[in-house]
Amino acid sequence: MTDADSPAKNPEANKSGYPFAEVESKWTKFWFDREVFDLDIQPDQPRFSAALPPPNITGNLHMGHALNGTLQDVLTRFKRMQGYSTLWQPGTDHAGIATQMVVERQLAQEGKNRRDLGREPFIAQVWKWREKYGNQIMNQYKRLGVSFNWDRVAFTMDPSYVKAIYKAFTILYNEGLIYRGNRVTNWCPRCLTSVSDLEVQHEEIKGNLYCIRYALEDVPAGGPDHITVATTRPESMFGDVAVAVHPKDERYKKFIGRRVILPIAQRKIPVIADTYVDREFGTGALKITPGHDMNDWEVGQRHALPSPVVIDGEGKLLHNEFVPRKYRGMERFAAREAIAADLNAKGMMEEVRDYVHGIAHCDRCNAIIEPQLSDQWYLRMDELAKPAIKCVEDGEVTFIPERYTATYLDWMKNIRDWNISRQLWWGQRIPVWTCSSCGTMDAFEDTPNSCTKCGSKLMEQDPDVLDTWFSSGLWPFATLGWPKPTLEMTIFYPTSILSTAREIINLWVSRMIFLSLKLLHKIPFKQVLIHPVIQTADGKRMSKSKGNAVDPLEMIEKYGADANRFWFTSLGIKGDQDVRFREPKLEDYKRFVNKLWNAGNFVLAQLPSGPPRDLDRNHLTLADKWILHRYHSLLKTLDDAYANYDFHLIAKELYDFVWRDFCDWYIEIAKIQMQQKENGNDSKDQTRNVLQAVFESLLRAIHPVMPFVTEELWSRTPKSPLFSKLRSIMFAPYPRAVPTFHDEAAESQMDLVIRVIRSVRNIRQVYGIPAGTEITTNLSVNEQTERELLVRSKHYIERLAKTQVTMDSTNGDSKAHTATDSISNTTIKVPLDALIDVEKTKDKLTQRKQSIEKELLKVEQVFNNEEFKSKAPPDKVDVMQTQLDDLNKQMSHIKEQLKVLG
Ligand SMILES: [Zn+2]
Ligand SMILES: [Zn+2]
Repeated sequence: MTDADSPAKNPEANKSGYPFAEVESKWTKFWFDREVFDLDIQPDQPRFSAALPPPNITGNLHMGHALNGTLQDVLTRFKRMQGYSTLWQPGTDHAGIATQMVVERQLAQEGKNRRDLGREPFIAQVWKWREKYGNQIMNQYKRLGVSFNWDRVAFTMDPSYVKAIYKAFTILYNEGLIYRGNRVTNWCPRCLTSVSDLEVQHEEIKGNLYCIRYALEDVPAGGPDHITVATTRPESMFGDVAVAVHPKDERYKKFIGRRVILPIAQRKIPVIADTYVDREFGTGALKITPGHDMNDWEVGQRHALPSPVVIDGEGKLLHNEFVPRKYRGMERFAAREAIAADLNAKGMMEEVRDYVHGIAHCDRCNAIIEPQLSDQWYLRMDELAKPAIKCVEDGEVTFIPERYTATYLDWMKNIRDWNISRQLWWGQRIPVWTCSSCGTMDAFEDTPNSCTKCGSKLMEQDPDVLDTWFSSGLWPFATLGWPKPTLEMTIFYPTSILSTAREIINLWVSRMIFLSLKLLHKIPFKQVLIHPVIQTADGKRMSKSKGNAVDPLEMIEKYGADANRFWFTSLGIKGDQDVRFREPKLEDYKRFVNKLWNAGNFVLAQLPSGPPRDLDRNHLTLADKWILHRYHSLLKTLDDAYANYDFHLIAKELYDFVWRDFCDWYIEIAKIQMQQKENGNDSKDQTRNVLQAVFESLLRAIHPVMPFVTEELWSRTPKSPLFSKLRSIMFAPYPRAVPTFHDEAAESQMDLVIRVIRSVRNIRQVYGIPAGTEITTNLSVNEQTERELLVRSKHYIERLAKTQVTMDSTNGDSKAHTATDSISNTTIKVPLDALIDVEKTKDKLTQRKQSIEKELLKVEQVFNNEEFKSKAPPDKVDVMQTQLDDLNKQMSHIKEQLKVLG
């Protein structure tokens, strides 16, 4: 078999290559027609379950989805083939803010906004949008060939799902864990909702630090007449209620307890002492604005100060008694400029410094967050966090790679109460009703008919909706039917693994853990796999808005789903580093699929129809024993790799076995064997049996990674009657390593034969002997068993190295040029005079010798450097050592060759 040269570049080769588009659409249709993906519960089998992190209904499949989807599919298919009863739960998230924004934008194009429409009609409009576009991403997943339980696609707004949410909410509410709090939260003036700490991004911004003079009401004798306050946000100053200094700050001690006059507003406010103040920051005196800053709000609480709000939800200064008339209604950043200018004019702006600082931005729309005092619903976290910390510390839930344990624990140990309400319309409305007659407030699982206290029918539901992460926090159990005691819950919960992206460890993973522990008294999953992030080819973050994101669907169109899946598998989860997108890898794996395809077509052409016959273990050739040994060693390695989630190794081992052992060696040898009479027996049937046995089984071993090409080839492979009944290869058993095929002797013998063949091929290459030229190789072996082995294997060497082989022929002409190599106890000699132009070859070798000398010098310089020796990590030293050894080896070869050519 020869590798088709880069099929991507050669349309002719492409024609004869693997027709992935055809095969993929054929099998996708077949699988869905035959309902192979529907859940089939086998209660007596071991079970494997996972919940897909639900993508947003507004989303499109990106590289992260495709990578994560592939890894989960590889595991699920593997477990299914191992006889596990599997459940892989797919579905989508309603994505409150994101979806509402999309529909609002749509309305804006018609010149409308959601208030024009009203709440109910707006929600109806969002549903309409969802029906039309909301399943796009699920259809995109189909292109990847993932084996979700497609009959179970869930949605966080499904009626049964909403029931689960209301159940969870009322349980938490009734235990006093959900409460109404009035405090400063992150407010997005564009999305018009509060967002949690995890939904804001801190970005470094070049801004100003304004140093403003606040005049003292009573000037102490000989003292200054003002305190200078440093702030980045003068627009919030009308909400100031105090100036705070550190109690131990000698500069300000004498002012504590006095009052200053708030510039422009002319309101008198106290100077207070609080250890929150950082003496090193700015002037060491801070304005305290509890209505618009979380830390100030806490200072305000400690000193029993009021919390006036001076900026509204849209980021404009309010029309109220705190804001001087001139600034009312002004946009916050325009107000900043105006106030700064006015302070300057009044001589109260001491200094404006350039200042780079981190500013919170809305994760959704990138608007600058306006901290805002508001009423929100909070989930009390201290009690919920404790068991969630313990289950990870005790190893009940483990993170892979392990280092993400710290990400999780750091967050959980410093967790604050969670703001779970959002001022949106699209989402699950908070199930709290207040009686308009008597004011009783309570949470209900179902819409109440009347007040439980006074019987009044005038009940009003809270207008807010729940944070989207509250609903997705219930995902692994709400999708299985909780709170109903379903069979799925009994068998598949807790789920086996969760595979997800690191950026949602705190947003999502942590919440599933504490909500499951609280509501079900169970962990939601045993292992959390965190996959790497795929960056652009030049190491940047992929971003749709920047236009540098690679579309996985485009790559599937170009290289086929299997090649893409193979690449994703090779990335795995183990690496500590993020990975860069490398299109040449996809090209390489496309060639790999093609190689398998061509090998398959060759094998299938050799096999007689009808069920395969058993192997006759007594009549196996060396090559047969070797390939069986190699194959079963592969299975053993794969087993271990799966157990360790070492996807990279799974891909690497499959690649090497298919390409090198099976295609490059065994199939080539099989061609020889099938023409050979050995010991008077026709070895054709036996070779066919080995080919069949290895190939059929190999397809099953590859199937979890590359479902399409394996399904197509397997459907055409003669199989046992039992296998022939199966609807798909996905239900066939995963092959097991059989220890009796282990054969060290075959391994080392075949290894020797292969090395001899390589040596002759190498001589051909080194001396530039054209491929078509027939050569003669003489082997002299000074060890008996080795000699016998090579005599027995002569026909392999002759065919695969395109040479005549003579044994131990004496060297007649001492002046003749002869290429020589030695392997083990064997000396390999190829007479050259009849084959090459000796002079030309000598020139070429001399040039090569010079370039290797240069390289050697470079490597030696680094390697012999004392600093490198003492400081470089051991594996790096090893790499250098190998490099050095190789170069030295090459050098001595060349010298040898030059000597040969005299
Ligand atoms: Zn926003
Ligand atoms: Zn009432």
